[in-house]
Amino acid sequence: LPFEVTILGCSSATPTADRHPSAQFLQIRNSTFLIDCGEGTQIQIMRFRLRTHKLQHIFISHLHPDHYLGLLGLLCTFNLQGRNTPLTIFSPPGLQEVIYKVFNTSGVVLQYELVFEIVNTSQPEIILETPEVLVQTLILQHRIPTVGYLFREQPTLLKIDAAKAALFKLPFEAFKYFKRGEDFVDESGQRFSYKDFTFPPPAPRSFAYVSDTIYTEEILPFIFETDLLYHEATFMHDRLDRAKETFHTTSVQAAELAKKANVKQLLLGHFSARYKNLEPLLEEAREVFPDTALALEGLKFTV
Ligand SMILES: [Zn+2]
Ligand SMILES: [Zn+2]
Repeated sequence: LPFEVTILGCSSATPTADRHPSAQFLQIRNSTFLIDCGEGTQIQIMRFRLRTHKLQHIFISHLHPDHYLGLLGLLCTFNLQGRNTPLTIFSPPGLQEVIYKVFNTSGVVLQYELVFEIVNTSQPEIILETPEVLVQTLILQHRIPTVGYLFREQPTLLKIDAAKAALFKLPFEAFKYFKRGEDFVDESGQRFSYKDFTFPPPAPRSFAYVSDTIYTEEILPFIFETDLLYHEATFMHDRLDRAKETFHTTSVQAAELAKKANVKQLLLGHFSARYKNLEPLLEEAREVFPDTALALEGLKFTV
């Protein structure tokens, strides 16, 4: 089953002709999620032919306009398309007031249920748990309250070695125990270890979304050995002073964090409009952490 991130926007506050503000679309097994929703996100969703009928949860990192302005258009389009299933938006405080100010001014009445969940911006917490996914916040250090999001796949059940179970003439009922990692004891009292009749499940996959923030190692224990880490890299390292001033990260710093966290792959994004060519930014990051890629729009990253 898929675990895939599609990049919808990779620009920082000022967009360019070919780079939109932040947004990413995440598919984990049968669930889809939207993370940040910069201006133009709904058009990017159409451009890359993503399906939103299963979308139930949107995660906003912070209330700088390049991370949420696209919500207004997207929520209205869902309304016009006749959406009738609930939608939950997680964000730092203040978003609900902004959205309803606009909707009330414009006379927009939503035909579907919109739920706002305010995340704690000073303490990490688990905010969503479904049979497929667990989502928790990461506390970031930016000019206004900001969180990142960590998505972890729930462990899957053990896979039954049915042919072997048949060889031992085990009843179908035994499978129920084995799947949960429990032994099965038959009527005569004979014990069958689940280890002998199952294959180990694949390791749960994970993705961390970290934007925007000054370099912070406080998130290190949470993102340790994450499969895929998206980290903002607004500037190249020669502009470290500017990054610190504006509470952003350089490409080299993002790579250093990825290395310390021992992640499998690093994605860089949230690029300053000053960089026409992003290759030098990628190259200096790769010198520190080779498994680095640019989160360019339209690219899909499979975990
Ligand atoms: Zn931003
Ligand atoms: Zn910001």
